[in-house]
Amino acid sequence: MSYLSQTDPAIAEYLTKELERQQDVLELIPSENIVSRAVLEALGSVATNKYSEGYPGRRYYGGNQEIDKIEAAAIERAKQLYGAEHVNVQPLSGAPANMAVYAALLEPGDTVLGMDLSHGGHLTHGHPMTVMAKIYNFVRYKTENDGTIDLDKLRTLALEHKPKIVLAGFSSYSRSIDYAGFKRIADEVGAITMMDMAHIAGLIAGKQLENPVKIFDVVTTTTHKTLRGPRGGMILAREQYSKAIDRAVFPGLQGGPHENVIAAKAVAFLEALQPAFEGYARQIMKNASVLCDELKNRGFKIVFGSTENHLILFDAFASKGVGGKHAERALDEAGITVNKNVIPDDTRPPLDPSGVRIGTPAITTRGMKEEEMKFVAEAIDRVLANPDDDSVKQAVREEVRTLCRRFPIYGDLSY
Ligand SMILES: *Cc1c(COP(=O)(O)O)cnc(C)c1O
Repeated sequence: MSYLSQTDPAIAEYLTKELERQQDVLELIPSENIVSRAVLEALGSVATNKYSEGYPGRRYYGGNQEIDKIEAAAIERAKQLYGAEHVNVQPLSGAPANMAVYAALLEPGDTVLGMDLSHGGHLTHGHPMTVMAKIYNFVRYKTENDGTIDLDKLRTLALEHKPKIVLAGFSSYSRSIDYAGFKRIADEVGAITMMDMAHIAGLIAGKQLENPVKIFDVVTTTTHKTLRGPRGGMILAREQYSKAIDRAVFPGLQGGPHENVIAAKAVAFLEALQPAFEGYARQIMKNASVLCDELKNRGFKIVFGSTENHLILFDAFASKGVGGKHAERALDEAGITVNKNVIPDDTRPPLDPSGVRIGTPAITTRGMKEEEMKFVAEAIDRVLANPDDDSVKQAVREEVRTLCRRFPIYGDLSY
């Protein structure tokens, strides 16, 4: 019996049920993944007990000899992974990492050119609901009908608005970005280049997508998406911005760093440095490409036209006459976890948008390959063709369970 089940049977039971859910469903949310047992162990370690405000070698608390080694290892490994000059591993997550960069490099009222949310950008790239949008002036660019970003239009916006930061990066965009093109435009108007690689950090670490760290001034990321580490954030930057960024993270925005999470980040970075991680990243993209083709063959309308990374956004409403909310619920009942998502200039409300966003990082971690993607596409199609038919959903649910048991996760883990 675990300590947890003895002291807190309620939470132990919820965790057991959550573990079973993760074991038995097709996890297609593109921002999720399945971390290793080693990452879980580091997360649940004694490093959680420690206060370590400051940075390695310069702490405001005693007793940080081993913690310093852990954080230094995380920084060193991240530098190696991306070829970065400076790394800060303390941001608590992706949103705080972005906020820290804005705080470090901008004055209130300064302008950032970022991607529109409904065209694939993240909330923290200027959505009016965020605190950041109240402090800074965000001008947002959009994608074209063919799914690309028109650099001439981006340049016109940059010349007109004179941004201090030109920001690339996205949460629901499936095409690649011309970093050199962004950089040329930023240079022309004297702006700092920032890339938020949260979604694709693992594909870059696995050498399947171009590395923006070589080209851009500042790169932010989460560590829990394709990179397959613990929930958390990270900032990589040129040396000239290092002091401003470190000061903005601590004491600017945060207090004590979560050193158990930093230990887990270090473990995940070492995993990503192994040659096998390249194979993983390559398979994520192969799987996404096959899944996208299979969906197209079944009449699904793919937003942005195709995928060049790990994610696919399809217009569920235009394809199958099912709104995003209805689609998400029906698929959930069939053991397929997805998330509803807005499509460019969506006319439906944010809580019931037109799109559904899916991705292959988690199912690829389980070991699924091209063959299984055909089943996934067919299963999605069957459910969305009959979203209210319980017998169809039950049948798919059973087939999904059978498939998942062929690709088990977390063996003897229990709570
Ligand atoms: C996920 C994501 C974030 C935010 O990360 P959280 O850890 O949820 O705060 C920021 N930017 C982009 C592009 C993302 O996809």
